[in-house]
Amino acid sequence: MTVAGPQPGQPVVFRNATVLTMDDAHSVLNDTDVLVVGDQIAAVGAGLAVPDGTAEIDAAGGIVMPGMVDTHRHMWQTAMRGYGADWTLTQYFVYYYLNWGKIFRPQDVYAGNLLAAIESVDAGVTTTVDWSHGLRTTDHAEAATDALEAVPGRFVLAYGNIYAGAWEWATTPEFRDFYTRRFDGKGDMLRFQIAFDLPGIEGFPEQAAFEVARELGVPVTTHAGVWAVTGDAGINQMYDGGFMTPGTTYVHSASLSPDSYHKIAATGGFASVSTESECNAGQGYSPTWRLRKYGIPVSLSQDTSVWWSGDIFSAMRATLNADRAKEHDEAHDKGETVTNHILRAEDVVDYGTRGGARNLGLDSVIGSVEVGRKADLVLIKNDNSPVGFPILHPYGHVVYQANRGDVHTVLVNGNVVKFDHKLVGVDLAAARSAIESTLEYLQGEHGPEEWEKGMHPEIPEHETLNNPYTYRDDVSAWKESE
Ligand SMILES: [Zn+2]
Repeated sequence: MTVAGPQPGQPVVFRNATVLTMDDAHSVLNDTDVLVVGDQIAAVGAGLAVPDGTAEIDAAGGIVMPGMVDTHRHMWQTAMRGYGADWTLTQYFVYYYLNWGKIFRPQDVYAGNLLAAIESVDAGVTTTVDWSHGLRTTDHAEAATDALEAVPGRFVLAYGNIYAGAWEWATTPEFRDFYTRRFDGKGDMLRFQIAFDLPGIEGFPEQAAFEVARELGVPVTTHAGVWAVTGDAGINQMYDGGFMTPGTTYVHSASLSPDSYHKIAATGGFASVSTESECNAGQGYSPTWRLRKYGIPVSLSQDTSVWWSGDIFSAMRATLNADRAKEHDEAHDKGETVTNHILRAEDVVDYGTRGGARNLGLDSVIGSVEVGRKADLVLIKNDNSPVGFPILHPYGHVVYQANRGDVHTVLVNGNVVKFDHKLVGVDLAAARSAIESTLEYLQGEHGPEEWEKGMHPEIPEHETLNNPYTYRDDVSAWKESE
């Protein structure tokens, strides 16, 4: 028998959940119900009375938490999922900036965005910033936006174009017309940012793009503190020009001077930390251990599915790992032992939910399970999994035990977009066929040899140390018997 899920417009109640509210006190509530009516959380409490016709979801043994937020993902690249698993940032730049990214057509941007958007809601990432820096024309931007609108998630288009200067494209009438037509006054489901980087070009030409952002009243997001690419020079230009405004996102923030970190903290900036990315690509050591010393608020992001996963479970886990690894390593260098961790599972759950909402200026709208907030909610529960129980430390369970396969139900703006582990109202087959035709095009443009080569960069020379124990007789005897 198929269990009918909640119907559109029907109130929904989660019964008997452990609720990570992520409210100001980070209250954790046991055996608690969460009622959703319309697009809002209408009540949170034990044994709630609910309106007639409310759909009941048995959340006993599960965790209800706010929808997760990804503040930086290059969704257009998802058609190439996993292709760059062995890349450094250098191979990525060659691939996307010089060789391949620039042949993406609008339909290829659409395909990647569509799949990435579906991937987000499936994993309980209810809000995703599409850091869309392949928008060579406004036709590409229309396609990116069409895909975001085709999926029932909450999205932010961070409009960018790495193939021209921001001072060129952001100042055109086409850009302004696109923004006005598709975003101005559209509310909280689809928002807008301007995305560009500051390598410290003489004369600060990016000023013109900052002025457009200010005039439109939209935030800027920028890759800052990327080793050998964007550093203190860009931060100083922004600061001196008065463009380090509250709500600006500094993606990575990994390789900056103390002075730059102080400037970000003092001006109300946010760091979007992509730990899987920083640990692999080489922007600098994933910086939460440093950011907390400066009091810089953190949100999480997954950067691109060309290398990494697109879920915030992975981001939370990687971030806690990297932060603690750094603490231990620094202590060991001094001959010391870390006996208590500073960063807790609870903190990274905050980064991945409320922290992201704060970064986007949406924390009075989403990011916590509280009456009056928009209902962006995730139920983590998997009765068929041996990892589903016991749940003793709910934050620890979310960070180190759960994964996207345990996402049972997802609501965005009160709509059920996933129920009983299955997506609702989402056309995955359409995404599959769009991706297939994009891949066929990309492979055809470059030929099979280039395609294979791009996936397998050269391995640098490296040696295995001489082992002083190999002279022993017993070891030689073992080696000969091999
Ligand atoms: Zn990025």
